[in-house]
Amino acid sequence: MTITLVPSLRPLPALPDRPADADPLGVLGVPGQINLDHAASAPCARAAADAVAELLPWYASVHRGAGALSRRCTLAYERARQTVGDFLGARADDHVIFTRNTTDAVNLLARALPAGTTVVTFAGEHHANLLPWPRGSVRLPVPESPAAAVRALDAALGELRRVDAGNEPAPRSAAPATNPARPGPPVLVAVTGASNVTGERWPVAELARVAHRHSARILVDAAQLAPHAPVDLAALDVDYLALSGHKLYAPFGAGVLVGRSDWLDAAPPYLAGGGATGHVGAATHDVRWTTGPARHEAGTPNLLGAVALAAVCAALTEADRDALHAREQRLLARLREGLAALPHVVELRTFAPEAPRVGIVSFVVAGRDSAEVAAHLATAHQIGVRDGLFCAHPLARRLLAEAAARSGRRDLPPTALRASIGLGSTAEEVDRLVAALAAVG
Ligand code: PLP
Repeated sequence: MTITLVPSLRPLPALPDRPADADPLGVLGVPGQINLDHAASAPCARAAADAVAELLPWYASVHRGAGALSRRCTLAYERARQTVGDFLGARADDHVIFTRNTTDAVNLLARALPAGTTVVTFAGEHHANLLPWPRGSVRLPVPESPAAAVRALDAALGELRRVDAGNEPAPRSAAPATNPARPGPPVLVAVTGASNVTGERWPVAELARVAHRHSARILVDAAQLAPHAPVDLAALDVDYLALSGHKLYAPFGAGVLVGRSDWLDAAPPYLAGGGATGHVGAATHDVRWTTGPARHEAGTPNLLGAVALAAVCAALTEADRDALHAREQRLLARLREGLAALPHVVELRTFAPEAPRVGIVSFVVAGRDSAEVAAHLATAHQIGVRDGLFCAHPLARRLLAEAAARSGRRDLPPTALRASIGLGSTAEEVDRLVAALAAVG
């Protein structure tokens, strides 16, 4: 008896073949379906699918068994860690910890903060980088430009350090303090590399410089940046980085937290259980936790996910990232120009229109419910986009209000649509979306 678990798609007219340069990773897809929702989950790269297929017939337990298969799996898992770390520019004293996804990675770091750490974020973050932080965290308003973000962070950290030092707050006009003699309690700055709502890139290296000038550390949520641009911790001088494999052309279930080992080795294990221990005695609390990534990876790890993620990292390392970037930017410009020409479509943005972005655009169709438009695109045009507030409610609501003010339209819906380009996206796909939206007006 065959049990059908997956609903089938009805046969669809095929699109023209993708040009070879569009898709150096051999990203899988369904002929006839136009996927412009890469920011939610990107389709699987051929390298990841091959790596999983190779392991499936013989995988065995990792870090636990003495058998040949088990030892090969342990080796494959640790090689995957090395490959992912190399891809992200991890330094010698960094840990590369496999997690389920970005949300899991940020929560792990939130639990590993030294006592008394203040976390500073911006209100434009994805919920995964807003909600895990402890009470007392500082949430700065969404800035109007990348430069304003740097200035706002500088001022906020200067103020925090003055308060730490027991000084009266300085007058608003005073220059922020730099290199305070007493660094004070730990501070972590947590920012996105690229917004999942607007695609706008944040000035990560500058923010890291400011954070370090104030003896703070910085986490970059690279969930949306890493699929579009090389990210190198050492070069950016970033302390921690989180990302999701499923947004980087690997299947679901594996993400990573990379960063400074001292906080991670001193923290209680993220999960208590097997694999995270050095010694467990008979008495209830007689346990010595191990250090290293294993401290936070208790339980049998997701070998297939780690290997798939590493396979994509290896493939991207081989790829011509400059060419991929240039191609994506051409498609993004085509999409934004197409949307700008539609009088009933209004784009959402935080910064000036020309600010650097990855291939993500959010917009609204005036007078139309976004969920209905998304459903219409799916059923009538086989185009997959996202609608809603994109797990960034404070930012999305603010940008919707600004879009209404900027456009002068009173008929904008309360949620938005998002189109996101990935490897394998084509000009034809972009044009079909624009044409479909033109007809919706
Ligand atoms: N951060 C950003 C910027 C995102 O776009 C997302 C997902 O959309 C996340 C974090 C959370 O990723 P995940 O759902 O894989 O944990």
